[in-house]
Amino acid sequence: MDYCTNYWRVSIIKIDLHIHSSLSACGENIMSPQNILKKAEQSGLNLIAITDHNAIAHSILISEIKKASPVNIILGVELTTKEEVHLLGYFPDEVSIREMGEKINEYLPQMENRASFFGDQLIYDQEGEIVEIDCLLRQNALQISLDELVKLIHHLGGLAIPAHIYRDYCSIKSQIGFLDPKSEFDAVELSRYEWIKKKCKIGDLIEGFPVISGSDSHFLEDIGTFFFEVEDEHYIVDFDSLKYFLRKIKIERFSRPSF
Ligand SMILES: [Zn+2]
Ligand SMILES: [Zn+2]
Repeated sequence: MDYCTNYWRVSIIKIDLHIHSSLSACGENIMSPQNILKKAEQSGLNLIAITDHNAIAHSILISEIKKASPVNIILGVELTTKEEVHLLGYFPDEVSIREMGEKINEYLPQMENRASFFGDQLIYDQEGEIVEIDCLLRQNALQISLDELVKLIHHLGGLAIPAHIYRDYCSIKSQIGFLDPKSEFDAVELSRYEWIKKKCKIGDLIEGFPVISGSDSHFLEDIGTFFFEVEDEHYIVDFDSLKYFLRKIKIERFSRPSF
């Protein structure tokens, strides 16, 4: 793969695993998987994930239309737990994320989206045409607890990473109050603002958990304005390499101090 190279010839992999599409009510309507992929390419990103609120269709679609694009894709979703904590789930293949999709339908209250208030939830097809409007209130809390959801994601072979953990709403901090070091999370995510404020870099730990960040883009123009970087010696290019990398850092939790 042709990664961008800086002056010192050290290759850097640019990663953004938190992007919303038009299928999230809060996402801009022009955020089709096609437009997201194009913008990621133009921005020089190497690895991305679409993570819509309790919805998987566009995450799968972008991996199907990727074809010759240099941008690699991980299948993802941003789930809302019973406690209203946002939890990012990443999956190894289409079968496992489709199973997650079925569980979402099982746990999501059957309430209608008020599009005039929350925004539309538009579904695009392979040709980039709008084919459906999802009418369920997707950002609703799933009727499953945080601990149970983490177990379910792991059962499906996925990674469970609480999103924007210090944010004032829909986070571990706002809904639970503290980050339990005994939790089974594979990593924790900081918002871009916390990541910059704390001067984080990949490999850092919080309460023993590897830290990542994401743009949480809701507008096309946001894509590429924030990402985290990994030197290519770690070679994070897909789900398996991400999982391996996070496990490796986590094992080091016993030998390195947290900050
Ligand atoms: Zn969120
Ligand atoms: Zn989000």
